[in-house]
Amino acid sequence: MRLAGKRALVTGGASGIGAATAERFAAEGATVAIADLNGAGADKHAEAIRAQGGTAVGLAADVGDVESVAAMVDRAWEALEGLDIIVNNAAIPTMGTVETLAADEWDRVLDIDLSSIYRTCRAVWPRFVAAGGGTILNTASVAGIIGMAGQHGYSAAKAGVVMLTKCMALDGAATGIRVNCVCPGFVETPMVLTYFDAQDDPEASRAAVNAEIAAAFLYLASDEARWVTGTALVIDGGLTAGLPPG
Ligand code: NAD
Repeated sequence: MRLAGKRALVTGGASGIGAATAERFAAEGATVAIADLNGAGADKHAEAIRAQGGTAVGLAADVGDVESVAAMVDRAWEALEGLDIIVNNAAIPTMGTVETLAADEWDRVLDIDLSSIYRTCRAVWPRFVAAGGGTILNTASVAGIIGMAGQHGYSAAKAGVVMLTKCMALDGAATGIRVNCVCPGFVETPMVLTYFDAQDDPEASRAAVNAEIAAAFLYLASDEARWVTGTALVIDGGLTAGLPPG
């Protein structure tokens, strides 16, 4: 029960890493609001968590929309009677190079994968300040720390997530707001399986399971990490450690 008494909002919580994180947080005693563009999926996952004895609510929300984000934070705050933790996890994959990525696709991936986090944090920040603190966790990616060929928009957005995390951590230190991000390598989720067939590709040996990423979020959300802020925790099985032998 490492999160007993804590209240958490997880965006993109109907699927993949977000779903596993919401489930793990609930299992560790947190009450959880699961927000997703797929509102029915969020409700269904919240119901599954309740069936396991946890406390969870589902919310339909679009992190790409300012008003929807404000409503999401309001509704989560009301439903859970406050928030201690927010996991900004919702994102979309986008393939394309400077030659092939259309301008509107560039704008969209930057908006959903990076600006949405700025948007959500702006909505929650004054409340965390008034409450005397809070924990913000962002899902970045190894794509934000090494270049990913053919994923120019996604990689640029995730690099932005890493730096936004660090800047907010500096701001939050005086008011008890910790801000960290996790940089997963390949993880076996619907998002990645759409672009990378983990079943047949030799790279499959590098894919993590969602629970391994959720465990990192759990640590960063818990009081054990009270001295950890501004970090980008890489969970990639050594993918970015360097060149393998031979
Ligand atoms: P996923 O597709 O399984 O889940 C993403 C969820 O976000 C979905 O439920 C989707 O409905 C939701 N979503 C998308 N757009 C939204 C919006 N505008 N508003 C609200 N919800 C929205 O993907 P995943 O692999 O679990 O990805 C989760 C996070 O992990 C993302 O930030 C992704 O970039 C990151 N990540 C994934 C991998 C990987 O290998 N899967 C690796 C590194 C980082």
